[in-house]
Amino acid sequence: MTKSDIRVCSAWESAHERPVYTLSSTCPDCGADAINSAPAPFDPADPYGAYRRRARDEGPDTS
Ligand SMILES: [Zn+2]
Repeated sequence: MTKSDIRVCSAWESAHERPVYTLSSTCPDCGADAINSAPAPFDPADPYGAYRRRARDEGPDTS
C-alpha cells in the first residue's frame, strides 16, 4: 500500500470551485484525470517562484 491513494481532479481549478478528491483515477465529477494529491517537491504551476522571490529580495533599488 502506498501512503496515500487520494487523488485530486487535475482540472478542478477550471472545472470546480474547490479541489475534488477521489480514490479513482478519474474525477467522478468531470471525468478529468485525477492526479496524486501528495505535495510535490516543487510547484509545477509556479516554476519561476524562486526567481520571483529572489527578484523581490534583491528588489528594485529604492534607496
Ligand atoms: Zn473534476
